[in-house]
Order: sequence, then structure tokens, then C-alpha cells
Amino acid sequence: MPNSAVFLDRDGTLNEDPGYLGDPDDLKLYPATGKALAYLKNILGFKLIVISNQSGIARGIITDEMVNAVNLHLNKLLEIDNVKIDAFYYCPFHPDFSSEEDCTCRKPSPELVFKAASDFNIDLNSSYFVGDAVSDIECGKNAGLKTILVKTGYGEDSFSILKKQNNFPTFVAQNLIEVLDFIKKDCIGEK
Ligand SMILES: [Mg+2]
Repeated sequence: MPNSAVFLDRDGTLNEDPGYLGDPDDLKLYPATGKALAYLKNILGFKLIVISNQSGIARGIITDEMVNAVNLHLNKLLEIDNVKIDAFYYCPFHPDFSSEEDCTCRKPSPELVFKAASDFNIDLNSSYFVGDAVSDIECGKNAGLKTILVKTGYGEDSFSILKKQNNFPTFVAQNLIEVLDFIKKDCIGEK
């Protein structure tokens, strides 16, 4: 049986986005993150996969080790809600600093979603992409996923841009609790 997944952007979606987050001590989860993720994984059975652009690495502001330390700490903070992210995928490149070839992993490219789907035997038709940026919604669409824009992080600005482009996500949520409520309703009958 293939798995279903909720693909998640990290900064501005699960946690506050201070820009180029490199210090685990600066990681602040949003209040709804642990509870929403626990329900998605432990009750509804979704894999939880983070797909993140971390161009701070190409820019020389942060390192792979720092990104990995933040990711480890994120899972540590989620222990209180008895849940963990199954895998973190990130693209360290940026077109101003890296080759075009390297940048193929960068959202809105669906490359890392496809990689995760192959690694975890994920059925994209029954899966979702959740994020606060235009590139998250476009990545989800490019991968054939249902898309949810969350209005934390850059979500308000992203919503204005998407509206102007008449390029709407499947759903717009104020926070991860509304994301959870939408997925709960949406996946009834599909499982
Ligand atoms: Mg974000």
C-alpha cells in the first residue's frame, strides 16, 4: 500500500521565520504545530515530509550542519506532542550563487517532492503540500498535489500575489489547525 503524505515547508509554516535560521536556539514553533502534526500522523496516518529552500547555504550565511542542527531540534521540540517529521529535504542552492543544474532542486521545482515520494512510496494523488510562500504552492501544483497556503510567515503577502495571478491553492488556512481541519474533511471517503 502506498503512503499518503503531507509535504510541509519549514520556515513560516511550522516555525517563525527569522531569515536564514541557523541556530537551534532561535527555533520557535508556532503554537499549533505539534498538535496539528500529531493528529495528521498519529490519527490520520500521513507521512510528514519537510521540503525547504535553504539558500542561506549557497549565500555563505549558514552551513549544512546548522540546517541539520535546526531540523534535529525541531524534532526534539515535537517530542512533547509525540510526533516527529519523517524526513527533511532541502535545497541549499540559489541561482545567484549556484549553477542552473544545481538549482533544479529549488522550489517551485517539484524535484525534492518526487525524490521523497520515491523514497517513501508516496501516492501524490492523496497527498498535500502546505506552505506560506508562492513557491510552495507552485511546487505543490508542479508535483500534482493538493495545495494549502497557510497565512503564517509570508502567507498574507503570498495570498495577495496568488490572487492577482488568479493562481489559487486548493485551500487557504489561517494556521496549521485550519490546515488539519481541511485535510480531515477532505480525506474522508478517500481512505
Ligand atoms: Mg516558508
